[in-house]
Amino acid sequence: MRRAVQAQGASRGLALGRARVRQSQVFDAAPEQISAQAVDGEVERLHLAFDVARSELMEMRQRLQGALAHELGEFLDLHGLILDDPELLHGLDDLIRKANYSADYALRLQRDRLASVFDGIDDPYMRSRREDLDHVIGRVHAALHRNPGSDVIGLAGDVLVADTVAPSELAQLTERGVVAVITTQGSALSHSAILARSLHLPLVVGAHEAFAKIADGDALLVDGASGEIIIEPDADDLRRFKHLQRETARDRKALQRLRDAETITLDGTTVRLFANAESRDDVAQAYELGASGVGLYRTEFLFLQGRESPDEEQQFLAYRDLVMGMRGRPVTLRTLDLGADKADSAGICLQGEPNPALGVRGVRLSLSQPHLFRTQMRALLRASAYGKMNILIPMVTCREEIYAVRRLIVSCREELHDENHAVAKQVNLGIMVEVPAAALALPQLAHDCDFLSVGTNDLVQYLLAMDRGNEALAKSNSPLHPAVLRVLRDILSFGLRRGIPVSVCGEMAGDPVFTRLLLGLGLRDFSLHPSNLLEVRRQIREVSLADCQRLCRRVLLAKDRAHLEKLVLGRSTTTGH
Ligand code: PEP
Ligand code: MG
Repeated sequence: MRRAVQAQGASRGLALGRARVRQSQVFDAAPEQISAQAVDGEVERLHLAFDVARSELMEMRQRLQGALAHELGEFLDLHGLILDDPELLHGLDDLIRKANYSADYALRLQRDRLASVFDGIDDPYMRSRREDLDHVIGRVHAALHRNPGSDVIGLAGDVLVADTVAPSELAQLTERGVVAVITTQGSALSHSAILARSLHLPLVVGAHEAFAKIADGDALLVDGASGEIIIEPDADDLRRFKHLQRETARDRKALQRLRDAETITLDGTTVRLFANAESRDDVAQAYELGASGVGLYRTEFLFLQGRESPDEEQQFLAYRDLVMGMRGRPVTLRTLDLGADKADSAGICLQGEPNPALGVRGVRLSLSQPHLFRTQMRALLRASAYGKMNILIPMVTCREEIYAVRRLIVSCREELHDENHAVAKQVNLGIMVEVPAAALALPQLAHDCDFLSVGTNDLVQYLLAMDRGNEALAKSNSPLHPAVLRVLRDILSFGLRRGIPVSVCGEMAGDPVFTRLLLGLGLRDFSLHPSNLLEVRRQIREVSLADCQRLCRRVLLAKDRAHLEKLVLGRSTTTGH
């Protein structure tokens, strides 16, 4: 019978496939004891499952290729390390040998014990490691029950339904022809979601009811944009799906014609579209689609998966490749923005901060670790000799931070000069405007900056005091709030008055529903993921600036969110307060 589940779209795309439910049964394994005679056999069965899980990981590792291979490989290595942890296996052996528990129940007990240790720590990094632990234990559990020839991951035409999905699994899923992924947990801002978008794999997150409503083998229709899931679709749904699919294909073709088109409004205002690039693929795509440059390269991604920080040489090579990849177009590299939701595995972030989102993150963290920051700055400056490069500082709140970065640049320049390294004469320095204090103190801060880049993801989070990763706040955590819009207007008009270039690089800039509004507010430099570039270019080519400004005036006068949504989205998702 037809059923529907509404959740959150995290990576757009339409898919029709068979449900492949991967419920971590290990988490509910019932207490079960075995006879004393069965103990040796049970331990052996468990060890065999560990071996199978290890060789699966190894096989996945060897088959990895393409732009994301390095990042995904790091996750697989981490899972390998957890599997090889002698404590884990000894603990399990003890539970089977001393308490005569079955391997399943021992896995559950061990997992619950470790999970409660992770849960007790108020640190997002440790919490994300708990997810890794679940993935590893789930993999061993699946291997314990594997029928020869069956497959835990999913096959061509499958829609994987799971509690979470590890970034390391995503490439393998696409490679095997899995058409979409649904998770009961997770947020659209998670690393898995960012990778799913890069891989063009439809993803719906936060589908709490999925396990209750979806059974293995059900036919599923998934819309990764709206978050709608239809179980056992009827004839009307299938017709609608086919129709949408045809429309999407036609639309994609039409969009491709805009690859070489100018980004200009109907009344002749030219707009620049820069790319937010996370991988080499993104850079290649940005170049091909005619991006004006890279507006945001998040260098912390280089630090996120490894167990060790990349050294100067490794960083230099990564930055140099990026700069050269854009063949003369400007590239803006942001210095490390670790901390809060982006905790590293190399131990750079502070552990156990009571409130990491308001803690030592971004430039505060870099300045607190001079050696680390100097290494990064030297690598950046060395790469600047290979193209046009700008440096961007995240999470700035005061002028002292900018002074400190400028001093570091001068000192690194001198050092590199003495060591005979080439450095570009001119490297512009900009700041992220993503903390309310920076937005309000712009006249003071901008004095020392060559450009500004507005991070709406964090600006909205801090203006509204709503955690950007909290799925319960996903609906209200939106730029459509009078305070956010006013602040944006003020930043953009400040830039215009002072002749300082301002771009917006948060997710808002890549969402076509906000394009007219941002144009009306005065934005001329957008920085967005390349997968949204053509759509935003089309929006810009189809509007006149005068209409956008009219819309903007009405929006700034809107009294409540319902009204705002009606004006901008053409519909209201709230009851109006
Ligand atoms: C932002 O905060 O809007 C931003 C672009 O940076 P990040 O998402 O990396 O915090
Ligand atoms: Mg930010």
